[in-house]
Amino acid sequence: EHKLLEIKGLKTQFIGDKKIIPAVDGVDLTIHRSETLALVGESGCGKSITSLSIMGLIPENGKISAGEIIFNGEDLTKKSEKELERIRGNDVSMIFQEPMTSLNPVLTIGEQLTEGLIIHDKLSKQEANARVIEMLKLVGFARAEEILSEYPHQLSGGMRQRVMIAMAMATNPKLLIADEPTTALDVTIQAQILELMKELKEQFQTSILLITHDLGIVADMADRVVVMYAGQVVEEAEVESLYENPAHPYTEGLMKSIPSLEKEQKRLYSIQGYVPAPDEFPIGCRFAPRCEKAMEICHEKAPNIYSLGNGHHVRCFLYKELEEIVEQ
Ligand code: SF4
Ligand code: MG
Repeated sequence: EHKLLEIKGLKTQFIGDKKIIPAVDGVDLTIHRSETLALVGESGCGKSITSLSIMGLIPENGKISAGEIIFNGEDLTKKSEKELERIRGNDVSMIFQEPMTSLNPVLTIGEQLTEGLIIHDKLSKQEANARVIEMLKLVGFARAEEILSEYPHQLSGGMRQRVMIAMAMATNPKLLIADEPTTALDVTIQAQILELMKELKEQFQTSILLITHDLGIVADMADRVVVMYAGQVVEEAEVESLYENPAHPYTEGLMKSIPSLEKEQKRLYSIQGYVPAPDEFPIGCRFAPRCEKAMEICHEKAPNIYSLGNGHHVRCFLYKELEEIVEQ
C-alpha cells in the first residue's frame, strides 16, 4: 500500500458555550510513504487540530464527529485510548514549536529519552541508553554521553529541539508530525533543524507531516502541500506546481507574505482581515470577506473543489469551468 495515512471527511468539533464549534470541517488528506506533506495556513485554520485528531489528543471538550483516519490500514478513530497510546509510542511521533512544554524540567535528558524505550519497546536500561546515545549523535551532539545528565534548562532552544527530534525518532516511527518545529528558533538554527529533519527522513524513510504558517520553509522541505483555511482544505498540489501556479487567492496571499532577502521589502505584504472564528464562518466562500477576487456568487454559495490536473486541486469559483472533484 502506497498510502500511509488517509484522512477522509474528518470533522472535529468543540462544544463551547452551548455552541458547536467546527474547528476541522470536512478535511480529506493523504500522506504517502516516505513523503513530506506540508499543511499550511495561518494560525486558527485547523492545522493543529487536524494533527491532534490523528494523534488522538484532542482536548477534553472536543471530539471527532465524522470521518475516518486510516493509518497503515487501520481506522484510528475506532481505536481505544490504550491502543492510541501504543501507536503514539511507536508508529507516530510528534514534535512541537516549544520543546520546553514537552520536556519535563525535573528529569535529565537521559531519564526522559530512555523512558519511552523502556516502557514501550521493553528495552533494558542499558539498551535504552545505548539507543539514546546513538540518536543524540545522529541529531548532531558530538558528546552525546554528556548531554544525558543535563536538564532541559541547561540547553539552548535549538539543542532542546534536537533532543525532541532524537526522542521522536528513537522509536523509528512511520510518521513524524512536526507542528511549527522551528517557529521559536532564530533563522540560522531554524535552517539547521530543517536540514536535520530532511537528513533523517532520507535515512529512515519516515513520512513527515510538516505543519507551518510559513510557506517560505515549505519549498525546500515538502513533496506536496495542503493549504487549509477556516477548517477546510482550499488547495492541494505537488510543491513545484503550487509555487509555479498558486491557484487559490489565499495561497497567493500567503506566497506574497514570504519575506525575501533579495526583494528587500520595507513592509511585508499581509492578507487583509483575519481568519474567522469557527462559529462565525460566513455563508458562501469562507475566504470571501478577505478575498481581492471575490465575485457575487462567492458571498452566496460555498465553492466546490476543482482540478487543475496532476493532483492540483483548488476550492474556488474562479475555476468552476474545470472538472469538479467530489469530496469524500
Ligand atoms: Fe475568492 Fe471567490 Fe475564490 Fe472564495 S471562491 S477564494 S471569494 S474568488
Ligand atoms: Mg497551531
